[in-house]
Amino acid sequence: MSESNKKEIRRIGVLTSGGDAPGMNAALRGVVRAGLYRKLQVFGIQRGYEGLLEGEISEMNAHSVSNIISRGGTVLLTARSKEFATPEGVRRGKAMAEIFKLDALVVIGGDGSFRGARDLHRAGMPVIGIPATIDNDVGCTDYTIGYDTAMNTVKEAIDRIKDTAYSHERCSVVEVMGRNAGYIALNCGIAGGAEACIIPEKDFDINEDIIKPILACRNAGKHHYIIIVAEGVGGSMEIAQQIKEITGITTNATILGHQQRGGSPTVRDRVAASLMGAKAVSLLAQGITGRVIAMKGESVVDLDIEEALEMKKDIDEHLIETSKILSLY
Ligand code: ADP
Repeated sequence: MSESNKKEIRRIGVLTSGGDAPGMNAALRGVVRAGLYRKLQVFGIQRGYEGLLEGEISEMNAHSVSNIISRGGTVLLTARSKEFATPEGVRRGKAMAEIFKLDALVVIGGDGSFRGARDLHRAGMPVIGIPATIDNDVGCTDYTIGYDTAMNTVKEAIDRIKDTAYSHERCSVVEVMGRNAGYIALNCGIAGGAEACIIPEKDFDINEDIIKPILACRNAGKHHYIIIVAEGVGGSMEIAQQIKEITGITTNATILGHQQRGGSPTVRDRVAASLMGAKAVSLLAQGITGRVIAMKGESVVDLDIEEALEMKKDIDEHLIETSKILSLY
């Protein structure tokens, strides 16, 4: 860390941005409580970058975050701001932070929010990013806040759908979240005992990847089938229609939608969010900024924000293979 990146930080702003994720509140609580512990002043910014541009900024205290660790969503509210994603928006955001005399910003959000944070940092506003998105699609980190809770919600929904698919000897296509990434789909496909799992990272062929596995299972004596389709693949209604037409098996489709975003965060999300929030403040207290907090395995680490945004992670091929092997019977 070069000395030029260091400066004394006394007043920090914190915002949640982009898609909400369970555990954002736990991260906010971590930032506020760790900040107060280190004698920093912490300011909550409402509605993400929208609220930064509007100056919706007020000081938080220990009580501002009491009783929120168990709550889904974000008490700071979140938004998507088209204006902020322009050079003029970034300039106005930095100017507003200066009006409130904020020395640094903590941005809790996904990849898009991090790109905004990087632009602010390039413009001279010190930042730290904390990854929170249910999709787990942030390349620099093995884990994002909200992912575990969302997967548990999906697992419960699949279990319920499976009960009824079993009783009526039907096929159910279940569409789960994941615009660009199949992490939720693949893991929940395994956890829910799905017959096939279609993810955006892999091209699929309806006959090879869906019809053949269904018929193989039927010929082995099975009469109920779960097919998981990630949101980024889409077309779950059409896929259900095709399954019905080709196999004659009664097939319906369920799009789980926004229920996957809500709910009380799991232990894993609460702990990860708390550790990440505290780590962000620990860096700021040392005057270190321009970093993104990440998980590498079970460890909380920090990375240069420019390098972090260039990082990519691949879907686990071993998980894909195992999922196929386990669904053959
Ligand atoms: P997420 O953080 O969950 O990926 P979005 O992609 O919607 O959510 O991004 C949240 C906000 O971050 C956007 O509304 C916008 O203000 C800002 N943002 C997104 N992408 C960029 C970008 N490429 N450059 C600058 N700001 C961006």
